[in-house]
Amino acid sequence: MPDSINQFIRPVTCCVNDNGNLEIGGCDLVELAKQYGTPLYVIDEQTLRGVCCDYKRAFVSYPKVNMMYASKALCTMATTAIISSEGFGFDVVSAGEMYTVYKTGVDMSKVLFNGNNKSVDELLLALDLGVGRISVDNFLELSLLNELAKSRNKTADILLRITPGIECHTHEYIQTGHLDSKFGFDLTQIDEAVEFILESNLKLHGLHAHIGSQIFETKVYEDEVDILVKELARLQKKYSLKLDEINIGGGIGVKYTEADMPPSVYTAADLILKSLQTSIAKYGIEEPSVFLEPGRSIISTSGVTLYTIGSSKQVPNGKKYVAVDGGMSDNARPSMYRAEYTAVVANKPEEKSSQSVTIAGRFCESGDILIQNINLPEPEEGDILCVFNTGAYNYSMASNYNRVEKPAMVLVNNSQSDIIVCRETLDDLIGHDVIPDRLRTDV
Ligand SMILES: *Cc1c(COP(=O)(O)O)cnc(C)c1O
Repeated sequence: MPDSINQFIRPVTCCVNDNGNLEIGGCDLVELAKQYGTPLYVIDEQTLRGVCCDYKRAFVSYPKVNMMYASKALCTMATTAIISSEGFGFDVVSAGEMYTVYKTGVDMSKVLFNGNNKSVDELLLALDLGVGRISVDNFLELSLLNELAKSRNKTADILLRITPGIECHTHEYIQTGHLDSKFGFDLTQIDEAVEFILESNLKLHGLHAHIGSQIFETKVYEDEVDILVKELARLQKKYSLKLDEINIGGGIGVKYTEADMPPSVYTAADLILKSLQTSIAKYGIEEPSVFLEPGRSIISTSGVTLYTIGSSKQVPNGKKYVAVDGGMSDNARPSMYRAEYTAVVANKPEEKSSQSVTIAGRFCESGDILIQNINLPEPEEGDILCVFNTGAYNYSMASNYNRVEKPAMVLVNNSQSDIIVCRETLDDLIGHDVIPDRLRTDV
């Protein structure tokens, strides 16, 4: 099977240019840092479109496959526009993500609304914007959505989110398909849910599951597809329902470090489609539509973050800490999951690594370490550090901890760079603050 882009650490356009600097999308990273400031998120359009093509090509033999990008990995209007132009739909988990794709001009019938505790306002927004599917997670939501659909004189098109009881080997916090999970209906609760739906303003189209994230062992999808097809067949027969959709979620991994061995999307597709055919034959149903919701594997590799190196500290007989101008507020993953990353110094990418250092963030937490023990050439103040594979779950988890402005994001392609998210300003930071009048008199 061919390689796919999620198996690479660096964006596909990444190379060393004539100035001896690293470039991406034909843009010199040192120049980008100068022009836009750091920290800076950079997204390579060619890599992003390339991954979308990998997915489309990998599943081309089964026309009833639909790609739904999981917006939570990175949700901006420009990236939404690119992914939409590649023919993908969108999985959204909040009013904010729903509104972003809506305002970008996405066909809302290609949007699926997910989440384990959707609010009344969010469900109403989904009904009013004409979101194609709502994946209902629990009994409270079933009755709530039914009431809201009635109040709007509408039928809500839904899937049931189920917990298939599959363990995958990934970090505990990003495992979601095992039985003791906060997400979805247990298999033993499905019939009760369906019986409620039959008497409601809800129209059930199929079943939805998502078993975890940063998955390297594609065999878990075989089990997942089998459970979904089996349940679909059982419900079709028991309730004479026309159910023809399964959504197998996302989860395919990416390569953060040399030690990571994510699967090729082509290998995963081959296995998913084979097990689909096996299960369809085994349970005797017609070919269902299959939905996939990759997030991380779509956007991660296209993104890098640029930082400027500042102070260093050599602990006597200990580590050498090298501090950068960002950290846990623009990339929460190392402090949250002990996630690992790879980086190079963009202004001397070919210099030999002279020592192992620890890249520290600028935030007031000892846990704010971006990379433990990385071999780098002698780091000097003003050097530009490029951290790879930061497209997913970096900006989308960014905070204003320490009242630091969120970085800008630029899109690069064919030697051109465009701002797609402006850097926050100091006034943005205080823009939502209010001093009550009674305090103002004392100031
Ligand atoms: C998070 C999530 C995804 C995307 O997962 P990735 O690991 O980023 O591919 C897809 N579907 C659901 C329901 C999710 O919660």
